[in-house]
Amino acid sequence: MEITIVLFKHGTVDEYNRLKGEFWDERFHPIIRAFLLDLGLFTVRMFDKQLVVTSVFRSEEENGAIGGVPGSSHCDWRAADVRSSVFTDTERLAILEYAKRYGSLIHFIYEVGGTGAHFHANVNKSALIRLGL
Ligand SMILES: [Zn+2]
Repeated sequence: MEITIVLFKHGTVDEYNRLKGEFWDERFHPIIRAFLLDLGLFTVRMFDKQLVVTSVFRSEEENGAIGGVPGSSHCDWRAADVRSSVFTDTERLAILEYAKRYGSLIHFIYEVGGTGAHFHANVNKSALIRLGL
């Protein structure tokens, strides 16, 4: 049986192909990719809902244009955003709780405001250095 764990935002075909390509790009940090696949397995198993990835890489220009923080982890392939609106409040809390098992390695937050509510995940640079990764 084949299980789809992670989906990609269907904006235009180009946007979809870009997101999917970035998610599997060798520059995308393997720890953040593994985290998202694990989290996706959790949401499929618990809620029968897949994660929808809405953003992976951003150039500094793209990041500036949407009001992202300078030096964002999206600009060095350590971050991804995930759609939160498909989940209920209870599910969102369970997702945040699940992500805590990654400790300081993964920064995972429910962001509201700015570009709209979503989950943001990034692999923590200082944790990588501490772990010699
Ligand atoms: Zn983000």
